[in-house]
Amino acid sequence: MMAAADPVQPFGRRGLCPALSAPMRTGDGFLSRIAFEADIAPRDMVALCHLAERHGNGLIDITARGSLQFRGLTLESACVLEKDVLALDLRLREGLAVETSPLAGRDDAEIADGRFLAEDIRKEAERLILHEKLAAKMSVVIDGGGRVSMGDLLADIRLKAVSLDDRTFWRLLVGGPESRALSAGLVETDAAAGAVLSLLVHLAGKGPLARGRDLDRAAIKAVCGDRLLDRVIVHDATAASTPWGLMTTGKDGFALGIAPAFGQIRACDLSDLCERAGMLGITSLRPAPNHSLLFFGASSACEALLDTARASGFITTDGDARSSIAVCPGAPGCASAFLPTHELAAFASEQCAPLLDGSFTLHISGCGKGCAHPAPSLLTLSGTADGLAFSISGRAGDVPDGVLPFQHQRTALSRLARLYEKEHKPGETAATLFARLGKQAIGAALRQDDR
Ligand code: SF4
Repeated sequence: MMAAADPVQPFGRRGLCPALSAPMRTGDGFLSRIAFEADIAPRDMVALCHLAERHGNGLIDITARGSLQFRGLTLESACVLEKDVLALDLRLREGLAVETSPLAGRDDAEIADGRFLAEDIRKEAERLILHEKLAAKMSVVIDGGGRVSMGDLLADIRLKAVSLDDRTFWRLLVGGPESRALSAGLVETDAAAGAVLSLLVHLAGKGPLARGRDLDRAAIKAVCGDRLLDRVIVHDATAASTPWGLMTTGKDGFALGIAPAFGQIRACDLSDLCERAGMLGITSLRPAPNHSLLFFGASSACEALLDTARASGFITTDGDARSSIAVCPGAPGCASAFLPTHELAAFASEQCAPLLDGSFTLHISGCGKGCAHPAPSLLTLSGTADGLAFSISGRAGDVPDGVLPFQHQRTALSRLARLYEKEHKPGETAATLFARLGKQAIGAALRQDDR
């Protein structure tokens, strides 16, 4: 197998957009990534799709963070792609990644609009040229709450809005997805951007290997000082998910949330959808977290586009079994993969549809790195040199609960579906059922032990 993700840098380590100017070697050629800081017009996405076909293999990924990836490039075509993408003059991310919900500022369910904090952090980080000193993958997430879940995104530093006594505060967290981050305390809105910047400056001083997860409570307190409030933090348990289908945005706006199955789509299919969106009068769109796409326009236009998207095989509703599966590109797209993950995911979404009820995420990973779902999952299947490892309530890369021969992978999923069919009680979610059955019963079904 080839080495994984070997970066090449035709234009130096950092260009206008680091990932675009530093394509990565993968199993199907080089890969370039762009991230958007504003909506784009449907015609812009059509143009990007044409570039994906002209310079790559015509496959586009929408990543878990809502970036766009062009696959199957050569080193030469990646350079031309960069030039052509920049010529479109879109608002692409430059420097440090400071991410907010794509619905921020137009989401009636949000606690606070995080864009202003993000802008302050971006501007000051740029002035201090922090991105040149920080780890290349350093990321800051400003989560104002609302319909789009940002909790699963890895963040070195995270601000999460909470409402206490009718006022907005921000929880400061470092490292990991939100569920595994170190919660450092609360900050006032006025002090929030400054606290994040102080931590970034602190990390920059430690060099390009330092990450948010390296910070402990004492270091954060020393850096942030009085900006960390002496208040009990009430855990914010509001759960957000990806907003599929039609939704209102703000006072008069309307939006449609859809996703290609398993985060990947042929450029020609995406281009067709965006051309249709343009014809319907949809004015803008935005790739969004959880491999999704948000289109903005009049309600009638969004409704008509929903029909087209549904007929074209996009995920358009909560109940779609495919949206309960987190899957990485796998083989042949990634050189580290031990299995074609999308094939297994497609099989699982059909065979195990009743148990993929949204109560848990089935994680299918091409190898132990677990790119698609860094957090533990009720069931993780990952490729290894010895076969398909399964982990119950663990991560890809954890010591597995068992390893199946590759030729048994489909039968194992079929048996899991039968276990669900036999044992599940009316009204019980799959997550509750599996918790009730316990590891042993699930493992026995996957291992195909006769019981
Ligand atoms: S988890 Fe998937 S995408 Fe990540 S390195 Fe492994 S095979 Fe490649």
